[in-house]
Amino acid sequence: MEHTSAIVYDGKLLHETSYAQRAEKYQEIELTAIYQNVSLTGKIDFYNAKEKIIHETKRGKTTEDAHEWQVKFYIWLFTLNGIEGVTGKIEYPKLRKTTTVFFTEPDRVYLEEIVPNISAFIQQDKCPPILHSKICKKCAYYELCYIDEV
Ligand code: SF4
Repeated sequence: MEHTSAIVYDGKLLHETSYAQRAEKYQEIELTAIYQNVSLTGKIDFYNAKEKIIHETKRGKTTEDAHEWQVKFYIWLFTLNGIEGVTGKIEYPKLRKTTTVFFTEPDRVYLEEIVPNISAFIQQDKCPPILHSKICKKCAYYELCYIDEV
């Protein structure tokens, strides 16, 4: 749903306006991999191929574990494509803060464990229940999940 998400587009614009020179300098790449019959895709807006650094920018005023896991997932996709040594930087312009993301062996084990769960979700006849959480409003699937309510 990311291609239709205003939030995702807003994140890209934020990066382009906060770090204008990067839009010219860094690459946009899309990575894919198949892991245990699950098709995985990650679209990275700003990748510094020379330094092997993924740059991710967040608009909010709080750092979240989900931000780190997003970047760790991208790094995992790189490793599944045979590219090791990638790290990430998450920038929070409003906080004037940058965090560095490293990918560890326990991270790899965790992702390898949850992918079969995702596969099981995909094969269910019915969608899992809506979370009714405050994170839903920031989720790219919001309009799909709440189609009866919007
Ligand atoms: S909108 Fe909420 S329930 Fe739906 S996928 Fe996103 S987080 Fe899950």
